[in-house]
Amino acid sequence: MAETYVIALDQGTTSSRAVLIDRGGAMVDCVQRTYQQIYPQPGWVEHNPQEILYSQLGCLTELVSKHRLSRDNVAAIGIDNQRETTIVWDPTTGEPIHNAIVWQCRRTAGLVDELCGTPEVRSMVQAKTGLLPDAYFSASKISWLLDNVEGARERAEAGELLFGTVDTWLVWVLTGGLVHATDATNASRTMLFDIHRGVWDDDLLALFDVPRSMMPEVRPSASFFGETSYPGVPAGIPICGVVGDQQSALFGQCCLSAGQAKNTYGTGCFLLMHTGAEAPTSSHNLVTTIVASPPGCDHTEYALEGSVFVAGALIQWLRDEMHLIRSAEETEFLAQSVDDTGGVHIVPAFTGLGAPYWNADARGLICGLTRGTTPAHIARAALEALAFQTYDLVRAMEADAGVSLDTLNVDGGASRNGFLMQFQADVLRATVHRPQNIETTSLGAAYLAGLTSGFWSGTDELAAMRESDDVFEPQMDAKAAERAVAGWADAVRRAM
Ligand code: ADP
Repeated sequence: MAETYVIALDQGTTSSRAVLIDRGGAMVDCVQRTYQQIYPQPGWVEHNPQEILYSQLGCLTELVSKHRLSRDNVAAIGIDNQRETTIVWDPTTGEPIHNAIVWQCRRTAGLVDELCGTPEVRSMVQAKTGLLPDAYFSASKISWLLDNVEGARERAEAGELLFGTVDTWLVWVLTGGLVHATDATNASRTMLFDIHRGVWDDDLLALFDVPRSMMPEVRPSASFFGETSYPGVPAGIPICGVVGDQQSALFGQCCLSAGQAKNTYGTGCFLLMHTGAEAPTSSHNLVTTIVASPPGCDHTEYALEGSVFVAGALIQWLRDEMHLIRSAEETEFLAQSVDDTGGVHIVPAFTGLGAPYWNADARGLICGLTRGTTPAHIARAALEALAFQTYDLVRAMEADAGVSLDTLNVDGGASRNGFLMQFQADVLRATVHRPQNIETTSLGAAYLAGLTSGFWSGTDELAAMRESDDVFEPQMDAKAAERAVAGWADAVRRAM
């Protein structure tokens, strides 16, 4: 076979990237373009769908011309994307009716409270979708668009408009308007999809007043979606993998069976634990979501998911608002320059506390200050706060899934911090594995596309390609770890 590469299109919240990956799983090149964040009102976030498209296809065409790519040397394209972000467009003109409403946007919080106000509705939504009713997911964003763009509801009811998350929009455009489809991982984030039966659910469509005719067809992540047919992009390249970004990272970390987990340390943290064919209902305010399975898997597989709202953002705050550090990297050296935090704890509840606490009124605090407290103690307490918040999520997941985690796979920018990774292993009492390539998000989409197209033979070949990890084993003694966690728990109580 002459095909040498697969391409991953990584459509993120702040930038789009096109990544070229070779047969050995190495990242040969990556082209990245940022695009505009639009904030029409406090708490509202939008993207221009055409800008998403131009940034994403701009990266792709640049990569194509740099490496002389064509259907002859590219086996397949995989797409991973920011999840939940909602686009509605008119397929006859190809024009979106409004800007995309981004996952972070809170404009529909009131609508969700109104529609899902009773315990009966909340538990119906959780039972079907695995999600806790929230403005974050696509359902209420579609309602808002249909109710607030003039004539949209009539056009949608007449079958004249299409809905898609960003993957669907990209696939539709890249296939020249031929394919209106999404994958099961993205569908599972809309709050309209029954994750057990694998269908758009009539009760949920009725609850959010969304016409079924707008909804894309749902396919497995590892399947053929269509062929490229767009000016400037080599024609006929199969799109063979579509997956939401967090599920992509899970797949990219080769977490393919129950009990395996990954945590991404970025601005926030995203922790996913694979639960196999079981879809546990969380009693700790975590969500249950569909994961990407390798081609040929004959059943749906799930994960528990939880997030930390403020992770790397705390480090940014120390740098940009407190001016205590000049760079994020510096925290590692500072933290290691002291033996401990001297009793200082930081609870970064800037916007309340998420799972497992869900306390919207909690606010951040720094406690345990003494005359001897230095910036090094504060920096260390900040890194420890990232690890403690992850600890809380892991323990909640273990309780929900009835398993105990022995290895945590990590990625994301802040996973470069060796102190943080060691401390994480210490408090979790688990091994932390950090791959050489922490860009696992695009790797997941590439893997799915490469497996589906036959570029790679199977998941064993993927696992064998993984370069040796940095491994962090617990070193702190168990009593000290317990004391550390108790100190954190006390600080969280104060924050609430
Ligand atoms: P995102 O994709 O959410 O933008 P990244 O994965 O690029 O985030 O990670 C960037 C975040 O990680 C920033 O918030 C930054 O403060 C933090 N970060 C980056 N490097 C380090 C480091 N060495 N130590 C601690 N935090 C870091």
